[in-house]
Amino acid sequence: KPSLYEIPVPDIVSLGAYADRLQREAEARGETVAPPIRLQIGEPNFRTPEHIRLAAIESISGELQTYGPASGQRWLRELIADKITRINGYTVEPDNVAIAQGGTGAIQSSLLATLDPGDEVLVPNPCWPIYLPQIQIAGAVAVPYALDPNNDWLPDMDQLEKRISPRTKMLLINTPGNPTGAVMTRQIITELLAFAQRHDLYLLSDECYDQLIFEGEHISPASLLTPAEFESGRFVGIYTFSKSYAMTGWRIGYVVAGKPLMKTIVDVLNAGLTNISTPIQRAAAAALTGPQDCLVTMRESYRQHRDLVIQQLKAANRYSYTPHGAFYILINISKRHGTPRNGRQFALDLIRESNVAVTPGQGFGTITDDYVRVSLAATEDELIRGIQAICQLAD
Ligand code: PLP
Repeated sequence: KPSLYEIPVPDIVSLGAYADRLQREAEARGETVAPPIRLQIGEPNFRTPEHIRLAAIESISGELQTYGPASGQRWLRELIADKITRINGYTVEPDNVAIAQGGTGAIQSSLLATLDPGDEVLVPNPCWPIYLPQIQIAGAVAVPYALDPNNDWLPDMDQLEKRISPRTKMLLINTPGNPTGAVMTRQIITELLAFAQRHDLYLLSDECYDQLIFEGEHISPASLLTPAEFESGRFVGIYTFSKSYAMTGWRIGYVVAGKPLMKTIVDVLNAGLTNISTPIQRAAAAALTGPQDCLVTMRESYRQHRDLVIQQLKAANRYSYTPHGAFYILINISKRHGTPRNGRQFALDLIRESNVAVTPGQGFGTITDDYVRVSLAATEDELIRGIQAICQLAD
């Protein structure tokens, strides 16, 4: 099967572990070293807000923890249906929603419910790398389509058209995007929807960063469909509590789809998961019903960090685009002088020389050889020192 990646996923994950190992080795030699600056990891640098944690504790001490419905508790699905109307701009019922183990579980159950062996899935390049093994597990084949670095990392529609084959079953899109932070415009979403409908494809829309938008608007493709198109159609929306509410380790997200498709997705969840535990669902409910200032604070922090990093990149002549959402930026590290170094070699050298961990672009696809991904979910000081080290090593 074709692979999008030059380096396997575990290798990317291990960069942080590699930085830790270097630190332990230095300490064993009696050297005092600062902990690595971790800009490689895709998770909020905030604790889960207290009212969310307390809701789980109350549930543990006050409720029976019995099996629940595979689709998730109805009281949570009601709150999610309400959130989808308020935030994502389309109307659904609780039975259009299923709770899964993070965005990851929501995607995996949707892929298993829709794909047959040999089907092809159009996947953005670069993309969140876990799509690939997930598609492989479903017996299907990932076919990459380019996001254009010269057009704010938005999809290249001409190339997308050329990737269609008789086996194409699904178009997968992600906005705001990982690793780019790109936010798709209404115009692009309209074109992508028309493309999917023209070729009779499922459209899987990964909106895990839907509430982390710095400027402009997040457009959920389903908000451009009629209710009848959504209900009988081939649309799947993917969401998570992980990023907006700093709940990565809690493992809770959800999938939204028309009811006939949802039935199969819930069958898959039932077979693989049974249900997400009740205290975690209570925590998610508290996230939706509680004060939203935590979300605003985190988003504002990522936006300020984005501005700071861009300012530094401009000063160092390394600015290439502005991410408008999520909390990542791809930085072009192509060398101006001397021997070129790809992202992976760059990331290793950066840890060894400056104790700064970033993720090589190759971790996300084949067109990001000359890039590293930096997470904006770090402190200002870490970002300033980290970007300085990146720019120095790149020159
Ligand atoms: N989709 C994208 C684009 C992501 O970046 C991530 C996590 O990094 C996920 C899905 C998975 O989210 P979760 O941690 O909720 O499983």
